[in-house]
Amino acid sequence: MQIKNPATEEIIADLEETSATELNVKLEYLREGQIEWSKKSVDERLSCIIQFGVLIQENVDKLAKILTSETGKPLQQSLNEIKGAQNRIDHLKQNATKWLAPEILVNSGNTHEKIVYEPLGVIANISAWNFPYNVGYNVFLYALVAGNSVLYKPSEYASLTGKQFEKYLWQAGIPKNVFQCVIGGGEVGQRILEADVDGYFFTGSHTTGLHIAKSVAHKLVPVQLELGGKDPLYVMEDVKDVKQAAINAAEGAFYNNGQSCCAVERIYVSEKIYDEFVDALVQEVNSYKIGNPASLETFIGPLTRPQQIEILKAQVDDALKQGANLLTGGKKLEGKGYYFEPTVLTHCNHEMKIMKDESFGPIIGIQKVSSDEEASELMADTEYGLTAAVFSSNEERAMEVLNKLNVGTVYWNCCDRVSPNVPWSGRNNSGLGATLSAQGIRAFVQPKSYHSRP
Ligand code: NAD
Repeated sequence: MQIKNPATEEIIADLEETSATELNVKLEYLREGQIEWSKKSVDERLSCIIQFGVLIQENVDKLAKILTSETGKPLQQSLNEIKGAQNRIDHLKQNATKWLAPEILVNSGNTHEKIVYEPLGVIANISAWNFPYNVGYNVFLYALVAGNSVLYKPSEYASLTGKQFEKYLWQAGIPKNVFQCVIGGGEVGQRILEADVDGYFFTGSHTTGLHIAKSVAHKLVPVQLELGGKDPLYVMEDVKDVKQAAINAAEGAFYNNGQSCCAVERIYVSEKIYDEFVDALVQEVNSYKIGNPASLETFIGPLTRPQQIEILKAQVDDALKQGANLLTGGKKLEGKGYYFEPTVLTHCNHEMKIMKDESFGPIIGIQKVSSDEEASELMADTEYGLTAAVFSSNEERAMEVLNKLNVGTVYWNCCDRVSPNVPWSGRNNSGLGATLSAQGIRAFVQPKSYHSRP
């Protein structure tokens, strides 16, 4: 499998795809290893994860360069991601022992009742490329601490990073027969669906997620899906500072080139501040430095996958055909690399693809609204349900809008944010199940209930 640098289109590595035979050997090996691993205490398992975190932070500069070279993520954002993902490890350190301890519910008289949390066994983690540290850690670290062994398939666009996870987990003391990385694209992923594993934990697109859920349904094993979004932001006229609101909205939409599952994908703005907000947003977007992602100054690098350019072009063309105004950007940059200009479209409506389909790139559609009711209806008009945000100085008014929405996460005066303290979950086409928080670790165990009569 050839790995290309999206900024230069040069081949930077040639990796061997995992064959069907190798996959079976790895799975047998993981099955064996899981038995011993599950007998270790949570603290012993946790100490390997803590050491893994130390090694990653010690090698952060090298790892950030690898991530940037294969995904085109601007170097500063690669550094931010790797340093930021450490919060999952700190959170596990503080809480995992408590969350995985047996729970004694009745311990008096002649009835004793307790719950013991047992690992699932060998789990498969099929992952995405856009934030491989964040979305990888959300799954495989929690699974390992809970006593599972892990078959990890990084995205074909983040395979070099996936191999680094394997290297440093082994170096940190995780046995080789407890974590194994497989290399390949959809075909290799498909083979994992046919294999004997005890749970599927997927991060990626709705299309692939749905295919996975259908394909493995007959096995009756846990399936967890972290999928895409079309996340709305509503800017009310009472924001304290319109310019700052526009800067924050732009960052929510364009950080990581818009390739975040919880990126702001559509903006509704009160008619009372619409012109001021749009002017400030366009000014901010035009100030972004586009170019070589290996430079620490760059904010917008190339897209990771060349296929996305056609999707973005089609969304822009469709919007323009239906009466949108193009205020900046709108096309691929000439020359080498998968660069697409940061693009702002106004005068958008829900007949346009840009307000309904996931863009997953540096483009944003903006629509004017005249009331909270109109904004609420438009925000709810989607098949997705990942996050929604409101910027306002009035908490009660913001919550009135946010409380009604069928999404896993709501943001008041912030957006595009994930924290290990609270569950990360999507509804409808955005997914099934939750990672992070106590619920995130419970996803990797099964409860066994004990009824005893001493
Ligand atoms: P994708 O669905 O194309 O690929 C995801 C993974 O599935 C890859 O490892 C791929 O090789 C594998 N795969 C492809 N076909 C398969 C098959 N038939 N069987 C098994 N595995 C298969 O998604 P992507 O492009 O890597 O990621 C982008 C998407 O992920 C976006 O929609 C984004 O919103 C979403 N995402 C969601 C979250 C979240 O937490 N909700 C986080 C990150 C990304």
